[in-house]
Amino acid sequence: MAIVTLANYDWFKQWENERCTKRGADYEGVKNTIGDKLVAQATRLFPQIRDHIDYVSFGSPVTNNFYLGAPRGEMYGMDHNQERFSGESQTLLRPATDVPGLYLTGQDILSCGFSGGLTAACWPASVVLGRNCFSGPTVLKMKVRVGV
Ligand SMILES: Cc1cc2nc3c(=O)[nH]c(=O)nc-3n(C[C@H](O)[C@H](O)[C@H](O)COP(=O)(O)OP(=O)(O)OC[C@H]3O[C@@H](n4cnc5c(N)ncnc54)[C@H](O)[C@@H]3O)c2cc1C
Repeated sequence: MAIVTLANYDWFKQWENERCTKRGADYEGVKNTIGDKLVAQATRLFPQIRDHIDYVSFGSPVTNNFYLGAPRGEMYGMDHNQERFSGESQTLLRPATDVPGLYLTGQDILSCGFSGGLTAACWPASVVLGRNCFSGPTVLKMKVRVGV
């Protein structure tokens, strides 16, 4: 089970330059206090998991910085606010750039999450290859469904 919540980056900023897993007791204290509350809430909502938890590991916004290369812990990339989805932003957030041979991909050119990231992978591939790369998975799905 993965439990995701929001956290203020400033709560963890003081440890942003410390080494991952070596940030010390104070950091672990803040992180684990929040993490323990998340687990308590999860077991309250899903009591059937209570006796089946073998291992728990907590991350924080600075964990995201380390593993994802995110500047301020933003696991879902750019803010999903009105400005991001404005017409002007949409003309900029696309695979092709003004730099020859440089293409953008990932959640920031579309929308966050696994499906946003996957879809955003097909889009620049279509631009680079000059063909519709969305049709491949659709055809594959149909073949799997009919067992061809
Ligand atoms: C703990 C956690 C749980 C999540 N749970 C869910 C979930 O349940 N459902 C869901 O839909 N989404 C979930 N997400 C969000 C989802 O993982 C992201 O939205 C998605 O992975 C974004 O895809 P992406 O390809 O744009 O970026 P990423 O998957 O972040 O890929 C970017 C890659 O670029 C690499 N990189 C960064 N900087 C550099 C650099 N300078 N040079 C070279 N490589 C670099 C990173 O290491 C990373 O491998 C979760 C995220 C986290 C952190």
